[in-house]
Amino acid sequence: KLVGKAHKDKTIIKVRDIEIGGNDFVIIAGPCAVESERQVMETAMAVKNAGARILRGGAFKPRTSPYAFQGLGEEGLKYLHHAGQATDMPVISEVMDPRDVEIVGKYVDIFQIGSRNMQNFSLLREIGKVKKPVLLKRGMAATIEEWLSAAEYIVLEGNKQVILCERGIRTFENYTRNTLDLMAVPIIKQLSHFPIIVDPSHGTGREELVASASKAAVAIGADGLMVEVHPCPNEALSDGRQSLDFSKFHKLCKNLFAMKDCL
Ligand code: PEP
Ligand code: MN
Repeated sequence: KLVGKAHKDKTIIKVRDIEIGGNDFVIIAGPCAVESERQVMETAMAVKNAGARILRGGAFKPRTSPYAFQGLGEEGLKYLHHAGQATDMPVISEVMDPRDVEIVGKYVDIFQIGSRNMQNFSLLREIGKVKKPVLLKRGMAATIEEWLSAAEYIVLEGNKQVILCERGIRTFENYTRNTLDLMAVPIIKQLSHFPIIVDPSHGTGREELVASASKAAVAIGADGLMVEVHPCPNEALSDGRQSLDFSKFHKLCKNLFAMKDCL
């Protein structure tokens, strides 16, 4: 298998001067959804200042309800791109539909495939043809083997720049939104050469648990994190309950970098 350890020992994904899977501990942060030009710009400046290296922001949102905010689409991508330029950070955003790969590719440095699309095989094949890195989130009901098979679809088409992202799985426990499967980190390290990061926001669904999950992710050897941050989580149009405000995010980064230095 192309994703397997036997094929290669280690893949480092380079995005400008950032190395994912190398020595850097890369923090990706930003709002769940781009809501306005100002919201994403303010968030970009705050997360950059705290030590984030890559800006996230959803424009095409995979919402459970068709009546919930669906994202700003291309307009949102423009705001995200602009905020990334202003703060000198690469940007990442989700693509949900093979027909949108071209348009999303005009604005992003990294494509995100969301949990709900981990086994959208036509999307995986399409994203396998692009020449930019892809963050592949674990399906919420996917085994590690199924997840790696999904990555294989991408690599088989020629795109060898895959970053895996553990974001929690559905279990009987419903105190947390998902059950963050942190053991996936060392398991992926054993089975695959690709980098793996952790999403403590969707992994817990609760902002008060994000710091603990993040510290555990550092300790277990993740290559980075993807964290949702919002200027005013109470007013967020999506995932406010799990989003950190600027000061909480700043404090978290400080603690994580200190921890990283001790490992
Ligand atoms: C997201 O990153 O905002 C998102 C929708 O994540 P997931 O696909 O993991 O649910
Ligand atoms: Mn979200």
